[in-house]
Amino acid sequence: MTEVDTALAGRHALVTGGSRGIGAAIADRLARDGARLTLVARDLDRVTETVARLPKSAQAQAVACDVTDPAAVATAFVCAHQRHGAVDILVNNAGQAASAPLRRTSDELWHRMLAVNLTGTFLCSRSAVTDMLAAGHGRVINIASTAGLRGYPYVTAYAAAKHGVIGLTRAMALELAGTPITVNAVCPGFTDTDLLQESVAQVIDTTGRSADEARAAFVRHNPQGRLIEPSEVAATVAWLCSDAAASLTGQAISLSGGEVM
Ligand code: NDP
Repeated sequence: MTEVDTALAGRHALVTGGSRGIGAAIADRLARDGARLTLVARDLDRVTETVARLPKSAQAQAVACDVTDPAAVATAFVCAHQRHGAVDILVNNAGQAASAPLRRTSDELWHRMLAVNLTGTFLCSRSAVTDMLAAGHGRVINIASTAGLRGYPYVTAYAAAKHGVIGLTRAMALELAGTPITVNAVCPGFTDTDLLQESVAQVIDTTGRSADEARAAFVRHNPQGRLIEPSEVAATVAWLCSDAAASLTGQAISLSGGEVM
């Protein structure tokens, strides 16, 4: 039987990109901490499968939504509200990380990176804040990246978007500091998910390196010599959701084994 804690009992968490990788790990952790859940992603079948694996107590619902589409985001929040009432925890996790040298960064790639990583975070945050003010409690947690704190070659659009997420986090935190809402960013280093596998495959394609060499190139960034686990990101999110983190707002927390920013 799945053990469920009560630390987040009564809370309603909406996790974008909750179908796999870091988002699925966050959903699992928040469910085990007692929250009710709404999970959002574009592929409804996949997010429905993830929902089916969560503890029944989470009464999780799956909602198909592209976070870059304002109308779809508005509808997703209506669905969330109808099922579980006010959203009082929002985890903006949906993201993509396409890479290309600057001179081969197309307009499409640029706009897609900003749309999913930055505009999606803005749209969901704007929708959530009204609910949170009404609920008298709110946690907005943005899954940014170490690429929001420093540059890396070949990811200009992604890094610009993630730096934007940090700016959005800081500005929202100050604007809402007189309310019960906190806003923080979590900045993982390279984390073992599908997204990382796609980056490894691209390095193999473009450089002819072996899979082990390509993976090692990502591991090398982390002074601890390893990839971050999705469950580690989820544990930090869970802590930010707790009452113990009430005074923490406007922060960008690096989860990267000590990588220097
Ligand atoms: P994955 O590729 O494993 O999962 C991405 C999730 O986002 C999926 O659920 C996907 O579902 C969803 N998603 C993608 N685009 C959209 C969209 N337009 N609208 C709604 N949902 C969308 O990625 P990770 O778990 O690795 O990454 C999660 C977050 O963590 C991202 O913001 C990423 O930038 C960040 N991050 C990841 C790192 C890593 O090394 N893995 C390092 C640092 C930060 P679907 O495709 O069905 O929409």
